[in-house]
Amino acid sequence: MPVPMLDVNRQNQPLMDEITAAITEVCTTGAFVKGPAVKQLEQNVAEYCGAEHAVGCASGTDALLVALMALEIGPGDEVILPSFTFFATAGSVWRVGATPVFADIVPGTYNLSPEDVERRITPHTKAIMPVHLFGQAADMTALNRIAKKHDLYVIEDAAQAIGATEAGKRVGSLGTIGCFSFYPTKNLGGMGDGGMITTDDAELAHKMRILCDHGQDPRYYHHMVGVNSRLDTIQAAALGVKLRSLDSYAEAREKHAFRYNERFKKLSLSDVIGVPGVAQGRRSVWNQYTVRVENGQRDALQQYLAERKIGSAIYYPVPLHLQACFAELGYQEGDLPHTEQAAREVLSLPVFPELTKAEQSEVIDAIAAFAAQARTGAKRDAA
Ligand SMILES: *Cc1c(COP(=O)(O)O)cnc(C)c1O
Repeated sequence: MPVPMLDVNRQNQPLMDEITAAITEVCTTGAFVKGPAVKQLEQNVAEYCGAEHAVGCASGTDALLVALMALEIGPGDEVILPSFTFFATAGSVWRVGATPVFADIVPGTYNLSPEDVERRITPHTKAIMPVHLFGQAADMTALNRIAKKHDLYVIEDAAQAIGATEAGKRVGSLGTIGCFSFYPTKNLGGMGDGGMITTDDAELAHKMRILCDHGQDPRYYHHMVGVNSRLDTIQAAALGVKLRSLDSYAEAREKHAFRYNERFKKLSLSDVIGVPGVAQGRRSVWNQYTVRVENGQRDALQQYLAERKIGSAIYYPVPLHLQACFAELGYQEGDLPHTEQAAREVLSLPVFPELTKAEQSEVIDAIAAFAAQARTGAKRDAA
């Protein structure tokens, strides 16, 4: 049985009547930009995250960019962030002319190491940008403590983690500004691009709203240079329908993740598969279920799965500190050992909410068969 890595249609199909009705209403009224559905979604997302304000924008990438612009971070400033993340985290820092300073991760959670962050603080550091990778909140308690001590902003890259909590508080309410993406593969996935920025600071919220609209306030009067980044009303209308199911999606993802953990443990696969850890006091929303494949077997396992038409993905094969576009920053292989090891070992398995039990069993059985084969091979080599 083929198993897809992700199937957005299974999620959208049951809601199609509602989504179509919501979109039709926007088309009928013609309020395509800044329509009422945008305001409504902003209110709902702010409330959902436990933040005072939310501002819609065109993508998660723009959310990060506008957050940095609002905090007036630019040339000469340094922002500390993980290298083990999607490109946009560092790309946005680069785009405002600031310097990305890459810190290493904690191997168990793949999230930013507070100790390594603190080591990299200089007089030029303006902000820490933790990423809640794969759906799990970074160690915000420790990072906020460091930020407070050194007077730094904290910009949460929450693109993969809407709904995730640390100590009962949801991401997007844990830093100075929270940045969300509604790209179709995210936990709250739209019908295209979209993003949202959250904050408790009314002044910052106002500034970000203006920055998203060319910096004009009022219209045609520009005190700042902004960008054109708005959440389309059509997108907001569709997302409003899906937001109501978001918790059930997270629950389904968690159930799949726990079943993987339990089955891999029962099958004693720990010599081949390292299961992902969730740190104390956190609840992951499992945007990805990412294992480590040890002994240099990762690519072989991915190929083995692909031959059986089972989807998997490598997030991320090349750490950002080693990307060609950042060569001038002078990082070298070996600089961030935990990050580099993760890039060699990680493999994400299907964990989307609508994955069936039979499909998941197919994935688990294939991995067990691969492990049995790998063990026989290892024994043969040893003999
Ligand atoms: C998806 C993602 C982004 C960018 O979001 P877009 O909406 O695709 O621009 C940023 N950071 C992380 C960690 C992401 O996963």
